[in-house]
Amino acid sequence: MRKPLVAGNWKMNKTVTESVALIKELLDFIDGYQKTEVVICPPFTSLWVARELIQDTSIILGAQNIHYQNEGAYTGEISARMLQNIGCSYVIVGHSERRDYFKESSEVVARKAEQSLNFGIKPIICVGEKLVDRETGKTREVVKEELEAVFAILKAKEMANVVFAYEPIWAIGTGKSATPQDANEIIKYIRALIEDKYNETIAQKIRILYGGSVNQENISSLMAESDIDGALVGGVSLQAMPFSKLVKFQQL
Ligand code: PEP
Repeated sequence: MRKPLVAGNWKMNKTVTESVALIKELLDFIDGYQKTEVVICPPFTSLWVARELIQDTSIILGAQNIHYQNEGAYTGEISARMLQNIGCSYVIVGHSERRDYFKESSEVVARKAEQSLNFGIKPIICVGEKLVDRETGKTREVVKEELEAVFAILKAKEMANVVFAYEPIWAIGTGKSATPQDANEIIKYIRALIEDKYNETIAQKIRILYGGSVNQENISSLMAESDIDGALVGGVSLQAMPFSKLVKFQQL
């Protein structure tokens, strides 16, 4: 049985002061809720204060990016050791905004995932197609290419600590979610590729999230699907009450 996971990606939002306010509200609503694993991914500047507020609570800390080198002359970058030291248990890698705006290749994304695992941080590896890919029937091809770069680097025992997020790019921040059936179909395909490359036990154990305009209205139908194990949430994660409702989707 895979425990549902809801991760909030705050992106480049929230000052330290605003982060404190949001986390305090979140704690009021969801601290101690055990049915869903909850991860928040604030910007780097708020990680420390977030860690101070959520240690000894049920909310888990994640980051939004990582560099694949250990340390050194990489101005502006953040290493796995730094994230480990600040208390991050998860890190998002390969978000489409990073692949697109910062030209991160699938190979770089895979190396980031590997580096995070080296430091005991679980990567949430994002994959997903652009609208043009979907319209030209290339969804599976795009997702497969992104996954194969990861498969080329990660060994079976590392895969146990990986989370994937299927995020069709046309659904991110647009208010236009994939249908639960379409999302489930691609997530099942991802699981089948994992099984082909590794084995059935690993494929059944790995959590695969859906991301793209998840909200209070669509979370229940998404979570009712066989293979959707949770959600990676952007916009809605910036407000405590609606995000908490997603976390407690079992009660909707
Ligand atoms: C995201 O950024 O990963 C995302 C899914 O955003 P939103 O929920 O706003 O579509």
